[in-house]
Amino acid sequence: MNLDVIVSLCKRRGFIFQSSEIYGGIASCWDYGPLGVELKNNVKRAWWRDNVYLRPDMVGLDAAILMHPNVWKASGHLDHFTDPMVDCKACRRRFRADKLDETPWIHYCPATKGNKFEIPAGEPCKHCGARRTLCPACGKGELTPPRQFNLMFKTFMGPVEEDAAVTYLRPETAQGIFVNFDNVLQSMRLKLPFGIAQIGKSFRNEITPGNFIFRTHEFEQMEIEYFVNPNDVIDGRPADEVWHERWIEERFAWYQRYGIRREHLRLREHEKDELAHYAKRTADIEYKFPMGWSELEGIANRTDFDLRQHGKASGKSLTYFDEERKTHVLPYVIEPSAGADRSVLAFLVDAYREEEVRGEKRVLLRLHADLAPLKIAVLPLLKKRDEIVATAREIQRRLAQRWVSVYDDTAAIGRLYRRQDEVGTPYCVTVDVQTVGDAEKREAGDRKVTIRERDSMEQVRVPITELETVFRELLADGVAWSAIVARYPAAKS
Ligand code: ATP
Repeated sequence: MNLDVIVSLCKRRGFIFQSSEIYGGIASCWDYGPLGVELKNNVKRAWWRDNVYLRPDMVGLDAAILMHPNVWKASGHLDHFTDPMVDCKACRRRFRADKLDETPWIHYCPATKGNKFEIPAGEPCKHCGARRTLCPACGKGELTPPRQFNLMFKTFMGPVEEDAAVTYLRPETAQGIFVNFDNVLQSMRLKLPFGIAQIGKSFRNEITPGNFIFRTHEFEQMEIEYFVNPNDVIDGRPADEVWHERWIEERFAWYQRYGIRREHLRLREHEKDELAHYAKRTADIEYKFPMGWSELEGIANRTDFDLRQHGKASGKSLTYFDEERKTHVLPYVIEPSAGADRSVLAFLVDAYREEEVRGEKRVLLRLHADLAPLKIAVLPLLKKRDEIVATAREIQRRLAQRWVSVYDDTAAIGRLYRRQDEVGTPYCVTVDVQTVGDAEKREAGDRKVTIRERDSMEQVRVPITELETVFRELLADGVAWSAIVARYPAAKS
């Protein structure tokens, strides 16, 4: 699938817009529209619920984006948060040296009289067998040797732009957790192992942002720092190693729980030479994005590096008192670090389907109901009939108390269904003549409505009075649609 299909759907249906579009846009900055903000909030809510509310060993935090500049010195970001950058001597474009072979490249092939080809990422030319050595974008310029470029956004605090006022927009949320380790430990009376979770904005001056919301300058992270006593042993193995594996499994399962297909996920172990110097082991969860397998989440065993560094630099003890062994220890930390925006992209890509229904193309997002921006759409079959409209509006008002739901009468029913399919709304409720009856003909309505399920397009007839119970079962209690189908009569489609 082509990423452009998703980009275009996102714009057309109010998920994601180019930032500052009326001014020509700003590269790699995106705004979440009415449906996008719901989807992203739902992703974050699902993550928070599963990792904070449903775990007795986790608490939450929301630290400030601006931090004391010494944080970034101690954490190593000032000196080491860099990517290797190369420049094209001809077209002046800049690239991340370590990602050069992950984009398609332009080649003027000597074996075909210098014809221009665009060659897939990492592959040699089919005609002359050459591999890329020059600029991948213009195909002509030589590249400079790599030099290190710091990715942190610098800014000034206060009215004077002087060195003493320099601070940084955080490039990760994690440091806010480390510097609050003791505050959280003491105030919440926690015992190891425990974790602190945080969701928030991070900023990186990426050399080559792109691929829609995959790599941007401003993004949201969902990070966990899980602290473990390094002296503990579980089943004969160091506790930090066991917890690392448990978190890898848990995070791998999490994406699948919300609908991502197993075959579109894989684990990639970092090689020894790729590991940060303090990391004992790091594994990335990768997703098969349209542009290729790429990182969705990194899960690292950072040992006691961060707490040790901040303890040393601040002069405050960031140790934990091990009651059993009567010693102070520096906990080890396991860090599952995910991107909210990258997750949104993966969920969208994985949910996207094109089907043929009665000779027509049907586009649908098979989003998990917890993630779907809208849960229920209430649709009148005929908008000229006042009782139908009034009943539909009243149903929507009632359902909106509990679930994000909309009323729509701006097209014929077939088109209304297609619109809801395209944004992933799991259920539509339709009010028709049978529901309200016909006063002129002295026919009473049956006060029943049709519920249509998005994926199967099956429809059942349900009394209005039972709607809330049915949706509570479907949307909160995890009852399968098949159980509802078994209970109520099918409706004519
Ligand atoms: P990459 O190698 O892709 O630059 P990274 O290894 O630097 O990523 P981490 O520092 O491990 O990324 O950040 C954790 C997570 O934050 C990533 O897995 C990703 O989901 C998200 N993330 C990092 N950088 C960006 C970005 N520029 N735009 C969007 N999400 C990002």
